[in-house]
Amino acid sequence: MSLIVQKYGGTSVGNPDRIRNVARRILETQRSGNDIVAVVSAMSGVTDNLIKLARQVATSPVERELDMLLATGEQVTIALTAMAIHDLGGHAVSLTGAQAGILTDSVHTRAKIAQLLPKPIHSLLAAGNIVIVAGFQGKTSEGQVTTLGRGGSDLTAIALAAAIQADLCQIFTDVDGVYTCDPRIVKNARKIAEISYDEMLEMASLGSKVMQARSVEFAKKFGVVFEVRSTFNEERGTLVKEATDSMEKVVIRGVSVDRNQAKVTITQVPDKPGTASRIFNQIAAINVNVDTIVQNVSEAGTTDISFTTHADELPKIEKYLDPVVQEIEAKGFTAKGGIAKLSVVGIGMRSHSGVAAKMFEILALAGINIQMISTSEIKISVIIDENRVDEGAKLVHAGFGPQMNLDQ
Ligand code: ADP
Ligand code: ASP
Ligand code: MG
Repeated sequence: MSLIVQKYGGTSVGNPDRIRNVARRILETQRSGNDIVAVVSAMSGVTDNLIKLARQVATSPVERELDMLLATGEQVTIALTAMAIHDLGGHAVSLTGAQAGILTDSVHTRAKIAQLLPKPIHSLLAAGNIVIVAGFQGKTSEGQVTTLGRGGSDLTAIALAAAIQADLCQIFTDVDGVYTCDPRIVKNARKIAEISYDEMLEMASLGSKVMQARSVEFAKKFGVVFEVRSTFNEERGTLVKEATDSMEKVVIRGVSVDRNQAKVTITQVPDKPGTASRIFNQIAAINVNVDTIVQNVSEAGTTDISFTTHADELPKIEKYLDPVVQEIEAKGFTAKGGIAKLSVVGIGMRSHSGVAAKMFEILALAGINIQMISTSEIKISVIIDENRVDEGAKLVHAGFGPQMNLDQ
């Protein structure tokens, strides 16, 4: 007998028929002789709608109350899933994150899991029940409701799998696994059989939101091997685990796209110690997350500094950057949206050179202008115009070919 954690995402539980389908799958897993804990998301669109609703009553909703509101999405699904299982003749008990013993810090809307006390889960399993846990939520030690950031049900599943030492952790979603690129962008993207934690983490952080990045970080830290697979068929999915030697032979594991970025350039910044620090202290003080930063070579004692951020942050930047620009005696700044990040990821880059050259050549041949570049040991990212990013992804994907190698 195995102990299995399964997670079903929003589309998988998107309507009553789909909830019954999920209930059937869960019950079949139990009837084949396993103990099962299922984590479910809110029905698709529900979390987005709740956020919209909140913004209709308040311009900047209080985060404690936002968590109170968002946590209701998953509570609807746990109850409906448990009812559907009963209807099919099974025994299931639904638990909120708090009831399941998921304790978090008190950073509302993006809380971190601090501790898991899964005793209630063990007792319910021992009594023969299927346990259905609400994804994406927990409680603070003071009993306040918290949520774990968008896509947070992935984290709930992986953290529970670690805490109860599950034999298997399966993430069921609306695609057959992790693909070499988002199949909505590149139609002939291919399913990856096995991917390392580091590659999955980079891809997730660079826009491949098939998994929440924080959940992958957690899986790596606690060694939780998991499978991403489809709710709608029986195909094997993608195994996410520690890197193996054979994984390094493939140079590129995947291509990622992150839209809705913005680029801010501060012009003619005096080239002296302390200016960058002053700028980015101000950016941090207004809680804006900065991504790629580029400082040009200095000419005649001044330099330009550019950085990217999410397009949603533009109003804040426009409102609060000006005083600092004046204080450091820079000439001014420009801020524009409509850009995106295109990245290639692969641990094979550690041992193969020429990946950047190839990627840049592919983009050059198509006349796609690269505005910024950033790299790490296992990824190369370029900032380009958003309206050319899908085309860029398709070309780069095709350019590295079916084997994702350099010599196509
Ligand atoms: P769920 O609701 O099950 O959590 P998500 O919408 O969060 O599902 O994630 C699944 C989606 O991720 C897919 O429909 C797909 O469009 C998108 N996606 C982005 N990049 C990739 C990728 N590299 N491989 C597979 N899916 C991807
Ligand atoms: N319902 C939450 C969201 O839409 C959590 C999740 O689906 O993983 O972000
Ligand atoms: Mg998701």
